Amino acid sequence: MDTVALSKSNVLDYLNDPSPQALGRSPLEWLDRLHRPTIVHVPGRDRSRTRAMATLLHGNEPSGLFALHRWLLEQHTPEVNMLFLLGNISAAKIPPTFSHRQLPAGRDLNRCFKAPFGGEEGAIAEALLAELRKAKPECLLDVHNTSGTGPAFAVTITNDDAQQALTSLFTDRLILTDLRLGALMEYSEQAVPTVTIECGGSQDIQAHQLAYEGLVQYTSRPDVLSLEKTAWDIAVLRNPIRVELAPEATIEYRIEPSGQADLTFPPDIERHNFGIVSPDEPLGWVGTKGLSILTAISRNRTENVDQVLRVKDGQIYPAQAIRAFMITTNPVIAKSDCLFYAVKATGEPIF
Ligand SMILES: [Zn+2]
Repeated sequence: MDTVALSKSNVLDYLNDPSPQALGRSPLEWLDRLHRPTIVHVPGRDRSRTRAMATLLHGNEPSGLFALHRWLLEQHTPEVNMLFLLGNISAAKIPPTFSHRQLPAGRDLNRCFKAPFGGEEGAIAEALLAELRKAKPECLLDVHNTSGTGPAFAVTITNDDAQQALTSLFTDRLILTDLRLGALMEYSEQAVPTVTIECGGSQDIQAHQLAYEGLVQYTSRPDVLSLEKTAWDIAVLRNPIRVELAPEATIEYRIEPSGQADLTFPPDIERHNFGIVSPDEPLGWVGTKGLSILTAISRNRTENVDQVLRVKDGQIYPAQAIRAFMITTNPVIAKSDCLFYAVKATGEPIF
């Protein structure tokens, strides 16, 4: 394995233009050979510019790694220099492979890209940011999978032409958020166009394929930041609220409630991802605590959840027509991250 003879972080490994032998035959073989967060450099035709792509910040979201492994094996020469940042190698390697979002006692790495950079994850985030500052990329992608199944979408904190153009390499849906969570996409604040790509479910072959095809576009086009070059119109969903479940609340996924849980969603709740849910369509059931177990967050503020959801005879309905996304049937994610995001059916913010 070649290494880059630049100033090196003591929490990162470096690979320079890895050979097929170094990559192994499969992404799993490659992952076996990786031991820490890893930076991969591939020189481009134009050595004066660099584009960056992060992936595997969540260890259970492999589409970006699969795409990168395939792309590297094919030995493309990118249009510009490429800087790849592989974040949560340690979580990804915990058996069974790609099952852990983060280390069991660790923090969510994609919530650590802000000071004070405490703990192991904070040190990794700080080291990855230092690599970005050194490489001065013209843009940055952060490639993820969703916890549930559903179509691909992008997330940004800035909705300019450049973010829309980057989105269009992968998908036609862009979520503009004003929530600040310490996610890598907040690097946009450094005036580097940055977009998070959610490729679809981590088990979906289409998601892996979408990540690969997007990566090929991202690395082969001379210009990825001009909107007039995009193939389709981008639908922008603005400032979604996060609907969170109280930490002590219980959730079940069942066809009907057992009476034991504070919240019950049907097992097929993910079918609502990006669809419009009308006010007469039930979403699930609450227990005796009603909606008090739910919180709606927008602009880092707690909002009145009654403007989002209402309860009739123990069933939950949207209080107005909503478009919801990132709905998951993974109870751990539903509890630790959020239940879902929502905007008005028009794509406008609820608050
Ligand atoms: Zn993720």
